[in-house]
Amino acid sequence: MFSLNRKTHKLYYDDLHLDRCVAKVVKSGTGHVELDATVAYPEGGGQDADNGVILLQNGCEIRFIHARKMYCDHVAISNFPEIQVGGVIEHVVHPDDIAHLSGIQAGDPVEVRIDRLRRSQLSLSHTACHLLLLGVQQIRPDAVEWILGCHIRADAARLDFGVEERISNEEVHEIETIANAFVSRASDVRVYAHAAYADARYWECEGEVIPCGGTHISNTKPIGRMEIRRKSMGAGKERLSCSFSDAIFNTGIFHA
Ligand SMILES: [Zn+2]
Repeated sequence: MFSLNRKTHKLYYDDLHLDRCVAKVVKSGTGHVELDATVAYPEGGGQDADNGVILLQNGCEIRFIHARKMYCDHVAISNFPEIQVGGVIEHVVHPDDIAHLSGIQAGDPVEVRIDRLRRSQLSLSHTACHLLLLGVQQIRPDAVEWILGCHIRADAARLDFGVEERISNEEVHEIETIANAFVSRASDVRVYAHAAYADARYWECEGEVIPCGGTHISNTKPIGRMEIRRKSMGAGKERLSCSFSDAIFNTGIFHA
């Protein structure tokens, strides 16, 4: 199998609160830049990517609107969903800033900064999505057996399930109550890596463990009140979405 002999240092796993870092350009392609390290979380596990800027030494600012993982290795880990490890992260440049790419070359020092409000929103949304899942696990364990997909956006998150019996309004209400109880208890969230694979990560809250490589907040309280809605996606497919209009996004915890 094709495997790349280089990889991007994923600083967002070393310190989830880091919002900037220095790095070196590895290469720039058509509309994207690869660095030797980054704080930008790439799209993955249903979570949208970070946005931000790459600052060049000459003061030029290159905005990136997306970050993507490329050339990862697939590994099989027991009790873990399909996972890709290693690989490189490409920062996809804003169309208006592509012209600046002609001015950079491999080895150039740069600084990467992410949009920290967006990261805070995505981390909170992702944590809320896990509480939604824990509610479903208690009320409809059959649905958790067949998760069809998830999408974690800055303002909301959703999970799609394959089910034989639809999720009733009463069940949605019970799931919402369970999720909100996690918020009310202001429970701490812990994330940690698999002993053998730094990219295989776990999320844990009140002893509940979910394999997950996304970004999260460290306590459930800032989520505020979660509102859960159900949508039928056709025969055998149900979508549960959560939103959190009272959420408090902590952008002050990042390092200077
Ligand atoms: Zn997660």
